[in-house]
Amino acid sequence: MAWWLCTVLLVALATADLDVEQEDKKEEKKTGTIIGIDLGTTYSCVGVFKNGRVEIIANDQGNRITPSYVAFTEDGERLIGDAAKNQLTSNTENTVFDAKRMIGRSWDDTSLQKDIKFFPFKTISKDEKPYVQVEVNGEMRSFAPEEISAMVLTKMKETAEAYLGTNVTEAVVTVPAYFNDAQRKATKDAGVIAGLDIKRIINEPTAAAIAYGLDSKVKEKTEEQSVLVFDLGGGTFDVSLLMIENGVFEVIATSGDTHLGGEDFDQRVIQHYMRLYKKKKNIDISVNQRAIQKLRREVEKAKRALSTQHQTRIEIESLIDGEDFGETLTRARFEELNIDLFKSTMVPVQKVLDDAGMKADEIDEIVLVGGSTRIPKVQELVRAMFKNKEPVKGINPDEAVAYGAAVQAGILGGESQTKGIILLDVCPLSLGFIIEGGLMEKMIPRNSVIPTKKVKVFTTVYDNQDTVEIEVMEGERAMGADNHKLGKFDVTGISPARAGHPQIEVTFEVDNNGVLHVKAKNLAGGKTEGITINNDQNRLSQDAIQKMVEESEKFAALDKKVKEQAESKLELEKLAYSLKSDMADKEEGKLGSKLTDDEKEILKSAIDKSIKFADDSQYSSVAEIKAQITQLNTISRQLIMKHQKKDGEKTKTKTGKTEL
Ligand code: AMP
Repeated sequence: MAWWLCTVLLVALATADLDVEQEDKKEEKKTGTIIGIDLGTTYSCVGVFKNGRVEIIANDQGNRITPSYVAFTEDGERLIGDAAKNQLTSNTENTVFDAKRMIGRSWDDTSLQKDIKFFPFKTISKDEKPYVQVEVNGEMRSFAPEEISAMVLTKMKETAEAYLGTNVTEAVVTVPAYFNDAQRKATKDAGVIAGLDIKRIINEPTAAAIAYGLDSKVKEKTEEQSVLVFDLGGGTFDVSLLMIENGVFEVIATSGDTHLGGEDFDQRVIQHYMRLYKKKKNIDISVNQRAIQKLRREVEKAKRALSTQHQTRIEIESLIDGEDFGETLTRARFEELNIDLFKSTMVPVQKVLDDAGMKADEIDEIVLVGGSTRIPKVQELVRAMFKNKEPVKGINPDEAVAYGAAVQAGILGGESQTKGIILLDVCPLSLGFIIEGGLMEKMIPRNSVIPTKKVKVFTTVYDNQDTVEIEVMEGERAMGADNHKLGKFDVTGISPARAGHPQIEVTFEVDNNGVLHVKAKNLAGGKTEGITINNDQNRLSQDAIQKMVEESEKFAALDKKVKEQAESKLELEKLAYSLKSDMADKEEGKLGSKLTDDEKEILKSAIDKSIKFADDSQYSSVAEIKAQITQLNTISRQLIMKHQKKDGEKTKTKTGKTEL
């Protein structure tokens, strides 16, 4: 039942646009090192502002970008990043990716429902939210997308910590410009689970523009500048049009395709080879998951090579049915297979221009972001669209977003020399609530610069109405029900009064992180009530977050245990195999030349026992493995010492005195 009336709008106070520069100054005090993280759908990247410049940090594999993948192996190990992606072929059901497509969405979200159909891992609905289900240590376990993203964030945090040699607890994290409030909040929750305080969430295109210093460029020109950010990654394509003036960034239009990127280009090549194999050898690769994954890995490598060379060879030993695979892929063939997809990127570009009411030649700067913008044909199409205008260059496209996040982190941490930059983002969608007649009352219009705060006073529809319901929505549609619901709460205890008399003050506030706070208080009859939304349907409860933080700590402890266990197993194997080879060596001084046959038998049996123990040590504790190492060491030392003694006696008898 709708009780809410806005026809009697008593007062409308607007206090938007707080003094952001002051806010930034407040935050400028030096905390620990704040890192910048691009938490991507397929890959993530971390950077830090140090000694006056940005460093993009390589992970333990030496890679500057890390797959946003998490896997749970049969041995109870949890793998994150490259290690997780590398074993995808053999463990598809327990390897999770694309958490960014799920985070902050409800189970009935249409886009989520489309996505989960294609995930090789299982997803379930819990409290109307999506969870992934995987097998951990023989047990089925479910994880919220926030937890999976937290694991990726932990990996990025650890990468930074290894480089900096200190603990890191604060970060700036980027999200797509179109992310709604729930998705932003959920990303912040992922930070909490990972032990990271996300100081600021910024839009990816804004970060890319900052990376290129386009804000300071504007300062020199002291006039508004338009920047088109073309972001083609592994699985998503985003186009954003920013206006920058006096260091203020405003995203004025966004478009894209949430399912277009490098993986689609790889898929086209894979399909081509599947057809070819069927025709040439009558072999159907499509039925063999392992073969497809092998082919996918090599095709991706070939695609990367074709960005700098005109042809490359793909060689795969024993791809399927013992058959080796060997084909040459030319850039021309790669382009032919994908040309329609490449051309399709121009549609959102045109849409963004139309939405902003601008022409291509009015764009001041073009920024290319995402690994797939390295493809020469893509660059050629962008150039042609903008009348041969050259995009800004110099930063790796797959690192530009993390680079900008690191600059922003530097500013917040008081490190950056670019002091005084005012960084503003905008609300991607209008925010409001449902009023009488089911209409959407827009409190904060879309594209409002954040932080922002709006206050309006409303009144009741009926006589003696004691409660009003505030259903908070985001979206552009006129009818509230057509928009996306963020949550609701009631204002109760309104004193009996004629309709139109009570005054209910409603406050909508979006903070620096793009997080929305809604309050309502009853001004009538002296009774004041302040309420904020606390049951946001797409957000995890504080309890759930707390539980996940504990889980994450447990996992960290488990990871440590697994590592220690693996290390002691290695130590045992190393000892056993080195004794084995020493015993087989007849050279003087080696065990093989010293031990009697009986002694060799004793040592051999101890070695064999140790090797078998190591092989079966999956469920052994570190202490048990260490005990086995001690036992083997004791047996071998006793035998060795026995011979050292004998050698000593021999020397004594020969010379009559002890040799030193
Ligand atoms: P991102 O998510 O921005 O890191 O982009 C990842 C995508 O970029 C993956 O699909 C990669 O295969 C693709 N990519 C990375 N390097 C290149 C390259 N040199 N040429 C073509 N595509 C690339």
